[in-house]
Amino acid sequence: MVREAYGEVVHQLNNSQHLISVDEARRTILAQVRGNDREGEDGTGPTNPSGKAGKPGGREEQVELLEARGRVSIRPVFAAGAAPPFDRSPLDGYAFTAADLALYPDGLKVTGEVAAGAAPESGPGHGEAWRVATGAPLPPGCDAVVRFEDTESRGDIVHVRVPVHSGDNVARRGEDFAVGSLLLPAGVVIRAQHIGLLAAGGHPQVWVCRKPCVAIVSTGDELVETGRPLGPGQIWNSNRFALAAAIVEAGGRPVTLGTCPDSAPAIAKSLRRLLVGYRPDLILTTGGASVGERDVCRAAVAELGGRELFWRVAMKPGTPAFAALLGPRLLIGLSGNPAAALTTFDVLVRPALAAFLGVKWRPSVVRAILVNGVGKPSSLRRYYRALLTCSGGQWRADVLPGQSPGALSGMARANGLVVVPEGKGPIQSGEPVEAWLTTDLTIDGGETFAVDPTHPLASW
Ligand code: AMP
Ligand code: MG
Repeated sequence: MVREAYGEVVHQLNNSQHLISVDEARRTILAQVRGNDREGEDGTGPTNPSGKAGKPGGREEQVELLEARGRVSIRPVFAAGAAPPFDRSPLDGYAFTAADLALYPDGLKVTGEVAAGAAPESGPGHGEAWRVATGAPLPPGCDAVVRFEDTESRGDIVHVRVPVHSGDNVARRGEDFAVGSLLLPAGVVIRAQHIGLLAAGGHPQVWVCRKPCVAIVSTGDELVETGRPLGPGQIWNSNRFALAAAIVEAGGRPVTLGTCPDSAPAIAKSLRRLLVGYRPDLILTTGGASVGERDVCRAAVAELGGRELFWRVAMKPGTPAFAALLGPRLLIGLSGNPAAALTTFDVLVRPALAAFLGVKWRPSVVRAILVNGVGKPSSLRRYYRALLTCSGGQWRADVLPGQSPGALSGMARANGLVVVPEGKGPIQSGEPVEAWLTTDLTIDGGETFAVDPTHPLASW
């Protein structure tokens, strides 16, 4: 009965047969994310940002360096100190005044030493040298260092066997970076090397873009949470977990709220509670986006007064994708087919999250030789899950078996997507194709994520 009340809406929505191009769909989504850049200043951001927040609900937060890996810098960072902070020896050897070598042909007398971490107030006199360790400050008065291997010692006299000039083997203060120099611009995905640089530059914390909060609503009467027993006709909900992981990899913070039946009022109710309870930056739905009678996700969005931006994208898999605005919030509806949902995530959702984080979404595209032929011509852009390998400078793309949109097993072996443009095909074995390295699309390579099935909103 409930469904009948929405039957008309579903029917009306299904009448439109127009497919939007992939590029247009992406542009439409990005325009919304960019339009929302100032979002949060009015306190409309998600409810529980972690870390030390900037403006309430804003996009910035300050995190400890150890928390910064995989985050995106949002303010430029300038060096609080020079590196190295003093002139130092880059090797184990002897420090002296280079001009003394000509004046004292019988060798230099070793009269002292400097360890790393020491702070010598005086240095060797005329005709003298001091032992210095790697990383030790250059003793005052010295202007060169020679490594032990290039010397010969007799008693306390050292003979230098190689020519040494003023400045040789001295790492100058500020040689790596000067005080106040730019260490990290905004918009960089922070990796180990950046963390090292920030630590060397005196910054124990860094301002990063907060993780966009992405809510996942899985819809489908047939869905059962993994771990619970399956009844006849039921399947485990894999999208919820796969998308949560993909969101983490894309630099976001997933909120997953269990499953929702194929009922527009139930989905609408869940979305309403989600909007109030979490105020996510982005909502993803899976399932119920196609043309079936029980595909009611769009009707639920309409019921909430949502404004549909597009429905049906000229891509395969993932054609039924749609996007809508629920007030200021962007919702992207994905096909329930697991491989389609993940591919559409790569094609449409990752760019949105990258834009939110202030980084450019730029898939690593390689030109590869197709190992096995694919496809008939189609007006849709097709994405084939493939294993990409490079040998002798030549990339090869092995399109994996199991390309049906519902199959995940082939995808698990894939590290790339072969992209066949609209109208192209078939492509024979040995022909060149364009392929994305999907492993390069990740922002945060490996944090674990917590799905909380005990949350009160999870009990749909
Ligand atoms: P739909 O998009 O609702 O037409 O679903 C397409 C296919 O994906 C159907 O075979 C569904 O059973 C399956 N499916 C839908 N949602 C999920 C999910 N969350 N996890 C795994 N499979 C799903
Ligand atoms: Mg369904």
